[in-house]
Amino acid sequence: TQSPVTVLGLGLMGTALASALLKAGHPTTVWNRTAAKTGPLTAQGATPADTARDAVTASPLTIVCLTTNENVRALLTPEAEALAGRTVVNLTNGTPAQARELADWAAAHGISYIDGGIMAVPQMIATPGAYILYSGTDEAAFATHRPTLEALADTKWVGKDPGLAALYDLSLLTGMYGMALGVAQAFALIGSEGIPAREFAPLLRDWVVAMTDGIVPGTAEAVDNDQHLTDVSNLAMNREAFPNFLQAYADQGLRTEMFEPFQGLLDRAVDEGHGADGLSRLVTLLKQN
Ligand code: NDP
Repeated sequence: TQSPVTVLGLGLMGTALASALLKAGHPTTVWNRTAAKTGPLTAQGATPADTARDAVTASPLTIVCLTTNENVRALLTPEAEALAGRTVVNLTNGTPAQARELADWAAAHGISYIDGGIMAVPQMIATPGAYILYSGTDEAAFATHRPTLEALADTKWVGKDPGLAALYDLSLLTGMYGMALGVAQAFALIGSEGIPAREFAPLLRDWVVAMTDGIVPGTAEAVDNDQHLTDVSNLAMNREAFPNFLQAYADQGLRTEMFEPFQGLLDRAVDEGHGADGLSRLVTLLKQN
């Protein structure tokens, strides 16, 4: 028999998580602020709880997935006593500092706290390719509950600092957002002459994949060796070329605000004597002071 689990928060993601646990055969207790959202899960065999307290006392493991960690803090604070001796896995998106703060609060109340970052959309839960990052001081509690958590997605343990799952999560999503911004500007630019997006899409897709395959490992090596000199495409050249991009955006009737900061970074790189370096130099320029 599978071990019991409680899920707090039945938004799009919490519902997908609870549903995956039910499909894997876990007795699943569910609670949501707006009680009506328990309906579809109850139909799948979940036990709805009237209060968050009833929910957390039903299982040794509580998974919480709300909009923000402020909401998590507000929800869990009155339940500290009920949670003592149990494990909380918080899959709400947040910052490393928020995760460490929640971990400190939990530790002070004898609660095992594991923070997590979901690298999937709800539709991908319990399908191949989805994974969840986890971190926390109580690695033994993670080991205990790992078989249960595997029902949600592959598990990736990233360390004992509770902030690490959020750090990895935000770093991966940062790469994605940067790519998405570039893709948006590219489609806007090609579309400014009426070229259908679907016609341009294969070229753009192959280009972005090829550039990613080169830039990610190349930047990693440059950063780890602190060696940014390049004989390929240096920052001095990029700085001179980039005004053409901003000019073309404007000429084609597009806004330039998304890429203006990039020109500023290139200017600063060259002004600070890094003109012969490659784009990997930007990693060091992004540090404050
Ligand atoms: P939804 O907006 O669908 O659900 C939000 C949930 O939070 C609801 O259950 C809501 O309850 C609950 N909630 C909000 N405020 C409070 C509060 N003060 N007290 C109690 N419950 C509260 O969001 P998602 O399910 O999509 O996302 C949940 C988390 O998962 C977020 O942190 C998100 O960043 C993360 N995530 C989401 C992904 C996605 O693709 N959706 C992907 C990866 C991570 P109520 O129903 O009563 O409003």
